[in-house]
Amino acid sequence: MKATEVLADLQRRFPNEPEYLQAVEEVITTIEDEYNKHPEFERYNLIERLCIPDRIFSFRVSWVDDKGKVQNNMGYRIQHNNAIGPYKGGIRFHSSVNQSILKFLAFEQTFKNSLTTLAMGGGKGGSDFSPRGKSDMEVMRFCQAFIAELWRHIGPDTDVPAGDIGVGGREVGYMYGMYKKMAREFTGTFTGKGLEFGGSLIRPEATGYGNVYFLLNMLATRGIDIKDKVVAISGSGNVATYTAKKLLELGAKVITMSDSDGCIYVPEGITKEQLDYIFKLKNEYRGRIREFAEEFGCEYVEGGRPWGYKCDIAMPSATQNELDGDDARTLLANGVIAVSEGANMPSTPDAIKEFLNAKILYAPGKAANAGGVSVSGLEMAQNSQKLSWSSEEVDEKLKGIMKNIHEQCQKYGKEEDGFTNYVKGANVAGFMKVARAMMAQGI
Ligand code: GLU
Repeated sequence: MKATEVLADLQRRFPNEPEYLQAVEEVITTIEDEYNKHPEFERYNLIERLCIPDRIFSFRVSWVDDKGKVQNNMGYRIQHNNAIGPYKGGIRFHSSVNQSILKFLAFEQTFKNSLTTLAMGGGKGGSDFSPRGKSDMEVMRFCQAFIAELWRHIGPDTDVPAGDIGVGGREVGYMYGMYKKMAREFTGTFTGKGLEFGGSLIRPEATGYGNVYFLLNMLATRGIDIKDKVVAISGSGNVATYTAKKLLELGAKVITMSDSDGCIYVPEGITKEQLDYIFKLKNEYRGRIREFAEEFGCEYVEGGRPWGYKCDIAMPSATQNELDGDDARTLLANGVIAVSEGANMPSTPDAIKEFLNAKILYAPGKAANAGGVSVSGLEMAQNSQKLSWSSEEVDEKLKGIMKNIHEQCQKYGKEEDGFTNYVKGANVAGFMKVARAMMAQGI
């Protein structure tokens, strides 16, 4: 089947999976030209095989809350593609989680992981359980119940989960503890583990730092310095906070951060002390960004988002489809020069069109936020060697990987007038490696 026919076919078969279809459509429409150059791909119906996950596990997770009541949630693991390495990708705990969202994330992960140059296939898992407002013991009981089902499908050379929204060091620790009990082994089956039990230095920082390193590579192509640039960041979780930390180190000004309740605006730029407060607020007290505004007396807009404020650079680092066409037009009218995505698929197709038409520097999440899973790959390498590398070593490797991803995007995304379409570049580069591996391995 031709690539566009495959898309129409998937749209017919999965009409209730909008996020999955959105991700698939973006990839198919951008790789089509390259795909058509290889008739053997069509013979092997490669694009359809790459779009449909290898398998999906879905299961009920029953756990006991603090009142002694039994709660039921859904659990999932999507093993999307393992042509170039074991399935690899995070686990998301959020009330919005459903099969469509996890299928889009697993699909994206396959391309992202391919770009990292490390041997990792793509997968994703999660639950509609939300850790928000739950006690520590409730989170622990949920994680144990989740892994009591999932453990038999994962393993250090089979499928290696990690964190994502709602899953940080605490949740990975509880899940790993239960996994170890069930599987009776101490191996690197999770990444994002604590430093004491096989975690890698720089893993918590990696997605945010990696996004800034990718941004620096993009800015360098136009001779632009990051110093004194005004940056709007959305989110206040792991990705957003470490993005802000690196930007502050480099002399940029971070004017916004947000959570699902609202947005703070600090026109003079968030200071290092204020950022430390946000780290504590989010990680230790599990508080809300509104409390930052109360503490420091800055502007806070309930339900607000960062895209209306004038900035040079936007780094959406919260969640999918958080930046739409209108937001993109506002950002462009306000003179934005670069958008680098810390979240997965945060810009809607309409917004992406606006950024590409305006020929600003626009990096899709699967390239710009690949630093997180890259350091996960480095954690797997350290685990199998039973070694720990220093922060400097990991950080240097991360910089090298982000530079390499940028080069791959340029190689496949550079247009005749010299403009780099990073969307096309990332999709084609990610696709070619997986496609060649699938061809070589037969059907
Ligand atoms: N959830 C992260 C991502 O979207 C990290 C996945 C991992 O480290 O396996 O890439």
